Amino acid sequence: MLIVMQRQADEAKINKVIDFIKQKGFDAHVSKGEDHTVIGCVGRKVIDKRDIELLEGVEEVIRITSPYKLVSRVFKPEDTVINVNGVKFGGGNIGMIAGPCSVETYEQVDETARKLHDCGVKILRGGAFKPRTSPYAFQGLGEDGLKILRKVADKYNMAVTSEVMEVSQIPMFLQYVDILQVGARNMQNFNLLKSLGEVRKPVMLKRGLSATIEEWLMSAEYIMSGGNRDVILCERGIRTFEHMTRNTLDISAIPVVQKISHLPIIVDPSHATGLRDKVAPMSKAAVAAGCDGLIIEVHNNPDCALCDGAQSLYPDDFAILFKDLKALAEVVKKKF
Ligand code: PEP
Ligand code: MN
Repeated sequence: MLIVMQRQADEAKINKVIDFIKQKGFDAHVSKGEDHTVIGCVGRKVIDKRDIELLEGVEEVIRITSPYKLVSRVFKPEDTVINVNGVKFGGGNIGMIAGPCSVETYEQVDETARKLHDCGVKILRGGAFKPRTSPYAFQGLGEDGLKILRKVADKYNMAVTSEVMEVSQIPMFLQYVDILQVGARNMQNFNLLKSLGEVRKPVMLKRGLSATIEEWLMSAEYIMSGGNRDVILCERGIRTFEHMTRNTLDISAIPVVQKISHLPIIVDPSHATGLRDKVAPMSKAAVAAGCDGLIIEVHNNPDCALCDGAQSLYPDDFAILFKDLKALAEVVKKKF
């Protein structure tokens, strides 16, 4: 249920409504918009909507039948803008994240980050705990990998994102990363999502391999209902009957999500296609379709990468692409 307050409702009236619904056993999530304050009333108890309508300062009480509430544009009409290290996602801004699939050595991350920093990239990606299909494949360097990422990022004034795989790793991740990434394979790890709701750092939530947009938004709802407002959605391709690409990039997810939700949606063309030469065209398509950001795999020496070399860009090719994307962004009235 959403409680829309009157334009002139002051703090005291807003707080009275919050106290009332809390006392009835509901959680209150407040969204202060330009015109109205909206209070999201979330819980499993039964409440008579008329009891709330009678409270002072209340303009309207709307029962929401859609399964997502806090992620929905009804709750928050304006775009959520997430700012990490001066890079903004949402509200007409396109954020860029780039870096290797996995952290392999200090030198590898350092050389890649230096080249990305020279192109103006301010957020570095790199996996330290890798969710690999085969238990015999490279599993990542673990905490040592996070330490390398942090050290290199600090050297170049960059922020860091890396994938957290389980609840017990969260306190460790908070020491090293600026955005906690939830991988496609963990999109419905509900315990992880609930715990990330208590975190006060942005979470990047990748779409599951076979997840519908509704399921994906419900996973974002898990994080938001725990109190964390900073969720970045990431479309990384879904599994279809097509085998020419690793996955099928669902470009239409961008406008579909943006209509339903205020959360920023970014695109990962690297995992979506699995092929280096498809990364540039799909990045351009994503910007043209109005995405709020991109996450692109770049490796200083892709031919020797321990993971996903075939989809990683050479730094020089990334530099050209980033310039092209900036030009394209102007056409769709957005900016990097
Ligand atoms: C990744 O970004 O390193 C990754 C494993 O991606 P995904 O979860 O989308 O497969
Ligand atoms: Mn990868």
